[in-house]
Amino acid sequence: MSIDLQFDRDHLWHPYTSTTNPLPCYPVASAKGVEIVLEDGRPLIDGMSSWWSTIHGYQHPQLSAAAKAQIDTMSHVMFGGITHQPAIELGKHLIEMTDPKLNKLFLADSGSVAVEVALKMALQYQQGIEQPQRTQVMTILGGYHGDTFAAMSVCDPDNGMHSLFSKVLSKAHFLPRPTTPVGQPLSAEDADALAQGFAQHGDSLAAVIVEPMVQGAGGMHFYGAAYLQRLRQLCDQHGVMLIFDEIATGFGRTGKLFAYEHAAVVPDILCLGKALTGGTMTLAATLATDAVAQGVCASAAGVFMHGPTFMGNPLACAVASASMAILQQGDWQQQVAQIEQQLSEELAPCAEFEQVAEVRVFGAIGVVETKRAVDVAVIQRHFVEQGVWIRPFGKLVYIMPPYLINSAQLSQLTKALSTTLARADVYQTS
Ligand SMILES: *Cc1c(COP(=O)(O)O)cnc(C)c1O
Repeated sequence: MSIDLQFDRDHLWHPYTSTTNPLPCYPVASAKGVEIVLEDGRPLIDGMSSWWSTIHGYQHPQLSAAAKAQIDTMSHVMFGGITHQPAIELGKHLIEMTDPKLNKLFLADSGSVAVEVALKMALQYQQGIEQPQRTQVMTILGGYHGDTFAAMSVCDPDNGMHSLFSKVLSKAHFLPRPTTPVGQPLSAEDADALAQGFAQHGDSLAAVIVEPMVQGAGGMHFYGAAYLQRLRQLCDQHGVMLIFDEIATGFGRTGKLFAYEHAAVVPDILCLGKALTGGTMTLAATLATDAVAQGVCASAAGVFMHGPTFMGNPLACAVASASMAILQQGDWQQQVAQIEQQLSEELAPCAEFEQVAEVRVFGAIGVVETKRAVDVAVIQRHFVEQGVWIRPFGKLVYIMPPYLINSAQLSQLTKALSTTLARADVYQTS
C-alpha cells in the first residue's frame, strides 16, 4: 500500500511545521546503514543521523538483535518497586563510560524530560542543603534544551520561540553567547560576562545549564573549553550546580565520548539522550553526583519527585546497552576523526561562496552558515535529487552523518551540499 501523503497533510503534525500550510514531506519506506530509502526506491545518503541519534546507522544488526531478544522477554514493566536486568546493565555502561563522580542515574523518556529532571534535581538539592533562596537558573544565549516548559525557559529567547510563552515561562538569566574559540584561552568578553553574571546572580542561582563545546539546535555554534573551565570554577565558588546538556554532543560526536572531556571539567548533573539507543527509540538519562543525590533526598520531600510511566523501559534499555557496547568497541574514535578531517577539507571551498558567512567543523559535525536564510522546500528538493538527506534550518546547512559512513558516501554529501549552495534559488529573497 502506498504512503497516503494526503492523510499526512490533512492530519499529522510534523516538527516545527505548519499544519495548515505544511512544507513538503518525503515518503520513506525503509532505512538501512547510512541510507534512507524513499517509497519510490531512491536511496538517500543520510547526513543528519536523524537529529544526532542514529550514530551506528539504521538497522544495525546488534541493535535489532537486542530489540528482538528483549521484546520476546519483556517489552515493559513499571519501574516503581520493580527492577530488571536491562536497566541495571545500561546503568553499568553509563556509569563506567562517564566520569567516576557521576554515580547516580535517572532514566527518562526524552531529552526534554532529562533536562526537566536535571533542573528539578538542582532545585531540590539546594533545598536539601538549606539554600532555599537558590531558585534561579542561568544559561547562555543561543542554547537549545528542549521543548517542555522548564527546558524552553533556558532555550535562546529568540531562536527558542520563547517569546510566545514569555508570560508563562519562568525567567532565566542569560549570559552572552560565548566568544572563546575552540582551542583558545578565555576571551576577555567571556571572562567579564561570566564575572558579572555571577556577581549579580551568584547568590540566587540554583544551577547553570549549558551545552558544552557545541550549541546544537540553537545555532550550531562551537566554543572553547576554557569557557567551561572558568564556569566550573565560578559555580564551585558560588555553590551553584553545573548542568551539562550533552543530549546532542554525547556519545562521540565531538571526537570525545562526552564533550566535557575536551575541557576536563565534570558537571554535577549530566543530561544524555538522542544517540543513547543508537536512534532506535526514545530514551534519555540524567546522571548526577552522590552529593546531588544526597542533597535531593535531604530535602523536605525526602525523595526525588519524578517518575515517568515508561521510566527504565526494558526494551529501550536493552537497545541502549547494545549501542553502548558498540561504542565501547572503540571504532567511533577513528571514524569521527576521519569524518572531521574529510569535512574540513571538502567543506572549506564553500567559504569562498558569496552567500556563505562561515564554514566550521568540529568532530563529526560540519556547518555552513549562510548570509541569508535558505528556502527549506527548495533546497531540500535539490538535495533529494542528488541522493542525499540534509535538512537545514534558517541560515544553517549542516551535516552530522552516522559514524560508519565511508569516504565516498561522505563526499557525495559534501558535494551535494556545495553544489546546492552555489545555486541562487536556494536562498530566501527577503
Ligand atoms: C534534542 C535536544 C534536547 C531535547 O531532546 P528531545 O528528546 O527532543 O526532547 C535537549 N537538549 C539538547 C542539547 C538537544 O539537542
